[in-house]
Amino acid sequence: MLKKILRIIFLLIISIEIIALILFFARPHFSTRNIQKSKSEAISLLPDSCEEYVTHANQLNDSVRNYLEQSYLSGIGILKYYREIKPKIDSGKLVLIENNRHYLLDTMYYSYPFLTVKSADLLNEIGEKFHQKLKNTHLKKTKFIVTSLLRTVSSITRLRKRNRNAIKYSSHLHGTSFDISYDEFDNPKKLSAAEFEYLKEILAQSIFELRNEEKCWATHERWQTCFHVVSR
Ligand SMILES: [Zn+2]
Repeated sequence: MLKKILRIIFLLIISIEIIALILFFARPHFSTRNIQKSKSEAISLLPDSCEEYVTHANQLNDSVRNYLEQSYLSGIGILKYYREIKPKIDSGKLVLIENNRHYLLDTMYYSYPFLTVKSADLLNEIGEKFHQKLKNTHLKKTKFIVTSLLRTVSSITRLRKRNRNAIKYSSHLHGTSFDISYDEFDNPKKLSAAEFEYLKEILAQSIFELRNEEKCWATHERWQTCFHVVSR
């Protein structure tokens, strides 16, 4: 009798083990789920420094829809021809922009070196910030390059013949906008690729801070390698 009971218990244990083995191999995701969970927990614990670095340049992403109307309202209207600029200067609506200790003007074929007073102040403020940030570095003598300022309908038409991507309804028509190059800087010494990258980021940071203070809108233009800035 005892022998029979022991045999039944033995068969029972064997059957349980067989069922457990079948379950384990038939549904393997049961076993990997915990591994995946611990993996994602580990990733969530990684320090911030392991995340992809977001540059200030990439955060300058205002679209023309955000500001075109406000730019028009705070600007000088739209000028058709170059000859219409002088009356705006005489009435104090536009001021001449010239090279100074912070920046140089590029040779401009499709724009004129004028801005509204508020926009000229903004450009100077960017210049001040940029130099303040470089003050204690070996790059302190660097000047940035302004590549575009006021445009007229006539100059935009000429530009569009050359560059079909140029926007017809540009805020450059309002005297509120300017472009600053980020792949060209003026410096007594020859700059390395790393120094160019650094200067681009310092320039972007200067603009970014003023954008946070709601003094401007700004866009990182990839095609034209410049920061397009609109005073606010
Ligand atoms: Zn622009």
